[in-house]
Amino acid sequence: MRWTQTYIPTLREAPAEAELISHKLLVRAGYIRKLASGIYLYLPLMQRVIQKFSQIVRDEMNAAGAVEVTMSALAPAEVWQKSGRYETAGREQMRLKDRHGRDYVLNGTHEEVITSLVSGELKSYKQLPLNMYQIQIKFRDEIRPRFGLMRGREFIMKDAYSFDADVESHRVSYQKMVDAYFKIFERAGLDSRMVESDTGAMGGESAHEFMVIVDTSAGEEYLLFCDKCDYAANREKATFRDENPPIIDSEEKELEKVPTPGAATIEEVTAFLKVDANRLVKTLIYKAIDDKDNATPIVALVRGDRELNEVKLNNLVKAVELEMADEDFVCEVTGAPVGFAGPVGLKNKEITIYADHEVMALKNVIVGANEADTHYLNANIGRDFEVTETGDLTTASEGDACPNCDGRLVCKKGIEVGNTFMLGTKYSDSMDAKFLNSNGKAMPFVMGSYGIGITRTPQAAVERYHDDGGIIWPKDIAPYSVEVVPLNYKQDNIREAADSIYAKLSEAGVDVLLDDRPERAGVKLNDADLIGCPVRIAIGAKSLDEGKVELKARNSSEVHLVAVEGIVAEIEKTLKTLK
Ligand code: ATP
Ligand code: MG
Repeated sequence: MRWTQTYIPTLREAPAEAELISHKLLVRAGYIRKLASGIYLYLPLMQRVIQKFSQIVRDEMNAAGAVEVTMSALAPAEVWQKSGRYETAGREQMRLKDRHGRDYVLNGTHEEVITSLVSGELKSYKQLPLNMYQIQIKFRDEIRPRFGLMRGREFIMKDAYSFDADVESHRVSYQKMVDAYFKIFERAGLDSRMVESDTGAMGGESAHEFMVIVDTSAGEEYLLFCDKCDYAANREKATFRDENPPIIDSEEKELEKVPTPGAATIEEVTAFLKVDANRLVKTLIYKAIDDKDNATPIVALVRGDRELNEVKLNNLVKAVELEMADEDFVCEVTGAPVGFAGPVGLKNKEITIYADHEVMALKNVIVGANEADTHYLNANIGRDFEVTETGDLTTASEGDACPNCDGRLVCKKGIEVGNTFMLGTKYSDSMDAKFLNSNGKAMPFVMGSYGIGITRTPQAAVERYHDDGGIIWPKDIAPYSVEVVPLNYKQDNIREAADSIYAKLSEAGVDVLLDDRPERAGVKLNDADLIGCPVRIAIGAKSLDEGKVELKARNSSEVHLVAVEGIVAEIEKTLKTLK
């Protein structure tokens, strides 16, 4: 492709709102433009990257036995009502009405649509297993669309859905997807880590995420992995071993109210009362927001030396959104300022109280007394307050003990590029999708669903591979493998050499971009670094007089003078060495 025939609007400055380097670079290098919040246009270079990555995904999905389909972006609300997710999807679901006033959904995922497709038509166990996938646009009205393509309201996803006759067969299908995912990310030049994750709104039995580890703020997810064994989970799911169990009293002591003037934080209370934090119970007030925007107060209890995990909490609460209560709300619920909330004698008696497992094991704990500057000693569950529901509510952090061995957990930031869900029969049950097994009995399909961010992953690659000058694409998802930069295209012999190299490379099947603009050499070289093709061939007057051109890999500072004669072979050799 000739630069002057395509559209690569490079910019000197990134938009002020772009926080991530990858977002800045994709805009500056002319890959993407924003139409509105979370809605992006993919310009010619981005289009090529998307196509290249999609092709890798297709190859590996096909090799794993999945078949490609295209489902509609639009679905009638009834399809979503059937699974029950129309009610629980919350405000992330994009909805609209047709001219007759009927309700529609712009699909954010396709479990419902595909289940309705096979329901009643995929009838026999002999047709199983079946795995269908598509590469298609999704719509989600994200609360915080941000970071460019990382969290859009419209984005491209590869989504696959497997149907199996039983759990054993499903495990085989699941493993095939896991293996394909590792190959896909490796071919895209990315080291990925698979971690256990929460099943979230998708439901089902178990799930994994594929993460690209980054050390910038791009990582919206935290993952924890053991420095000894292969334990790895994201923070929403990770557990740890309790290394600091408190001594549990044998008898329940008398409840006692004590003044704790000015001591509102865990540190202040433990210092004032001279106790360990593991004897305290933290009382956290949240607003559980439903789909009509109503906020109900709830209380969560964790041991004083722990952090609450909001995702784990909401797995019990099942609110559309969970929001930490502000000062006024805390005061309204407890009658006390922040720092003195406790489960004993809450003003609102109806309030639901969720407690972490560790809290349930304690006796004679210290809690806030719902009065300024006051705490209770020796509060006990069952006697002084009731707990509505219990579960694992704590967050694992760096340095915690591995739940499986004597190793330590290491915490890294990551970008989730894909995930896999064991759905079980959640959708086939709710949507009544059954097949006849070998005994002629109607059984629900055992399903899996598998997503990859087709637009997020390339941006994750940019976040992972760049330098001050711009993007450094892994070669198999780069828009062009080679950029030919004639330093002065107006000069006859340079132009002729550039055109000839460009023609030879094109003929050899190498994706090549020729910067045929009448720009200054400096501008062109800067732009070449910015857009980030893996190999650059610069053609200048001096070296050309000796029949040579400059070959440089984008990921290295070394410049090689190469004879024009053997240039194609030399470039192919260089490309082979690159990731
Ligand atoms: P997240 O936790 O980041 O919101 P998710 O669990 O909602 O992701 P899935 O519904 O499983 O993600 O979607 C599959 C893949 O699609 C994700 O792994 C991610 O790569 C991509 N993806 C999800 N949401 C977005 C988005 N808003 N913009 C771009 N890509 C996305
Ligand atoms: Mg999401």
